[in-house]
Amino acid sequence: MRLHNKVTLITGTASGIGRSTVCRFLDEGASVLACDIQTQDLVDFSCEADVEDSKLATCKGDVSNSADATEMVRQAVDRFGRLDILVNSAGITPRTVDPEADLVTRWDTVVAVNLRGTMLMSHAAVAAMRKVGGGAIVNLASIMGLVGYPATLPISDGFNPYVSSKGAVVQLTRDMGVRLAAEGIRVNAVCPGFVYTPLTDNVTSVPEMHQTIRSLHPVGRMGEPEEIANVIAFLASDEASFVCGAAWAVDGGYTAQ
Ligand code: NAD
Repeated sequence: MRLHNKVTLITGTASGIGRSTVCRFLDEGASVLACDIQTQDLVDFSCEADVEDSKLATCKGDVSNSADATEMVRQAVDRFGRLDILVNSAGITPRTVDPEADLVTRWDTVVAVNLRGTMLMSHAAVAAMRKVGGGAIVNLASIMGLVGYPATLPISDGFNPYVSSKGAVVQLTRDMGVRLAAEGIRVNAVCPGFVYTPLTDNVTSVPEMHQTIRSLHPVGRMGEPEEIANVIAFLASDEASFVCGAAWAVDGGYTAQ
């Protein structure tokens, strides 16, 4: 098992990629504290792994809040005795924000979760990882952190805080990756293409947009959350011991064009 006995904190686990990652990590033998701003019930994690209750715990917290970030890391250490891995999957798009909100509120809310949240969780986690002499952090960036939003989709107007926040997550990953490598803490990011989760419901529910998006990926389809979780598990594992400060596209060839 790739992650045997690795204590892992994963955020954004009530849904989508975060939820799939919990199952993948349990399959690989990790102990997981699954954190989300929403309340979660252990029975809702329908993982294929025969999960011993003692290997999975949940907690509620807002990654954009400094006190919550510290508390989530504290709970992981309290529950499992140490922290080896952090996966920052919590994220939102402008669509999550009140449609009546003004430009600045929408911008600040998205950046607060996607960028500040990733920073706060990582900052708290690094303090815990230093105590055990190393660790691994995997950030969920996006293809939108590498390229602009496609002009063929009538969604974005060029002032999309999602795109800028994910670009900044890529840079945060590089900066942390470079500075923490000597301490045995590897920091990397995955940059998924469009993946079937509630985050993309707004585009997959419109047939023409869905088709446009599929065709933007050379593989001719969108991704499944499990396909992202597979790469996260690898990057978090010791098999990726020479991967550091990288932003890996997991996008069916989207950014290779
Ligand atoms: P999702 O909406 O299915 O899940 C996101 C989870 O984050 C939800 O459970 C939500 O409650 C939680 N969350 C939101 N704000 C939070 C906060 N302040 N504190 C704690 N938890 C919070 O989304 P997803 O598609 O699984 O996305 C996961 C990550 O992957 C995000 O960072 C997203 O930007 C990124 N990503 C997704 C796609 C995609 O196409 N789905 C593509 C590229 C990158």
